[in-house]
Amino acid sequence: MSLFSAVEMAPRDPILGLNEQFATDTNPNKVNLGVGVYFDENGKLPLLQAVQKAEAALQAEPKARGYLPIDGLLAYDQAVKELVFGKDSEPVTSGRVATVQALGGTGGLKVGADFLKKLLPQAKVLISDPSWENHRAIFQNAGFEVGTYRYYDAAQRGIDFEGLLADLQAAPEGTIVVLHACCHNPTGYDLTPEQWDRVVQAVQARKLTPFLDMAYQGFSQGLAEDGAVVGKFVQSGLTFLVSTSFSKSFSLYGERVGALSVVAANKDEAARVLSQLKIAIRTNYSNPPTHGAAVVAYVLGKPELRALWEQELGQMRTRIKAMRQKLVEGLKAAGVQQDLSYITTQVGMFSYSGLSKAQMERLRNEFGVYGVDSGRICVAALNEHNIGHVCESIAKVM
Ligand code: PMP
Repeated sequence: MSLFSAVEMAPRDPILGLNEQFATDTNPNKVNLGVGVYFDENGKLPLLQAVQKAEAALQAEPKARGYLPIDGLLAYDQAVKELVFGKDSEPVTSGRVATVQALGGTGGLKVGADFLKKLLPQAKVLISDPSWENHRAIFQNAGFEVGTYRYYDAAQRGIDFEGLLADLQAAPEGTIVVLHACCHNPTGYDLTPEQWDRVVQAVQARKLTPFLDMAYQGFSQGLAEDGAVVGKFVQSGLTFLVSTSFSKSFSLYGERVGALSVVAANKDEAARVLSQLKIAIRTNYSNPPTHGAAVVAYVLGKPELRALWEQELGQMRTRIKAMRQKLVEGLKAAGVQQDLSYITTQVGMFSYSGLSKAQMERLRNEFGVYGVDSGRICVAALNEHNIGHVCESIAKVM
C-alpha cells in the first residue's frame, strides 16, 4: 500500500479546466472567453512596448541575480506605494504604509490572509456573492471561515446595494471584508462613488477590517479614477489592506508581479506590521523573484516609459469598451430583442451575460464558444475576427 493510495483526486480548477478542454477542441471557429486575460485585436497576448523598452534597458546593464530582500525590491515597493496611494499622500509621506512585493495579486491576498489569521484568529471573512473563485479558497486555506455579503442582483441586473449594506451592518466587529476596488470579477458591476462612501461608513461604524483587492486598476475609467476608492478609505482614517496585481495592467501574467500594502495608524505600527508580513513571506517562499518587479519599477520610475505604459493601458481599456459596443450591435443584428444595455454598463474585462449553465454548455459544445458556467464571458478576448461567430452563437442559445 502506497502512502498516497488514499489521496483523492481534487476537482479541476473550473476555469483552467476549461482551457484544457479548449485546447483539445477541434472546432475551427473555437473562441476562448473563459480565462480573464486581455488579448489584442489579433487575439494575441500583448507584450507591451513599455515592458520591452524596460527589458532592453535592463538587459543593457545585466545584473547578477542575488536574493531580493524578503519584502522585495525596494524601488518596486516604493513605486507601488506611490501608484496606489499617491506620491504626496499623507500615508506615504508619514511612512505609515507597509508595502511588500508579492507573487501576483494572489500572493498579496495570501500574505495578507496569513498575517490577518495571526492577528484576528477568530474573525470571519466575507467575500462578495459572487466573487472571484479563488477568494474563498485563499482565505479558507489560511484557516478562515468564509461567508458572503450580497452583491449581484440578477433580477435587476445590477448590485443589491441595500442587501450589501445590511450584510456589512450585521457583521461582527473585526470581520474581514474583501472588496473589489474596481472592475468587479465576475459581474462587471462596480459601486458608485456615493455607494462607496456608504460602504466606508458601514465599515467604520461596525469596526470591520477592509481588504481591497485591486487586480484591474486602469481597466474601468483610468488609473486615478479606479484608484479613487483607496483614497476614500484613507480619508476616513481607517486602517486597511490593499492587494495589487500588475498581471493584467502590464500584461505580465507569468512574471507574478503583485504587492500587498497595509495602511497602519502610524509609522511605528507600520514597521511592526512589516516585520510580521516578512515572516509570512519568509515561511512561504522566502523572498520574491527579481525580473517582473525590476521591469515594473523601471517603467513606473521613468517618466517617458510611464507615459507609454499609461497610453498602452488606455488602449486596452478603450478596445474592451469598443468590443462591448460591438457585442451589443452584433447580438441585435443576430436577432436578439431583449435589452442589452447591461453589457455596456458593466466595466472591466468581464461581462456577466445572464446565460444559464445549460446555455453556456451549448455554447461550448455546439459552437466552440467557451465561457464560464456562471455565464461570465471575457470581453477582453473578443476581436473583429471572432465577434461575429460569438454573437451568432449567443443569439442561437438565448
Ligand atoms: N483578484 C481578482 C479579482 C482577480 O480577478 C485576479 C486574477 N484573475 C486576482 C486577484 C489575481 O491576480 P494575479 O494573477 O496577479 O495573481
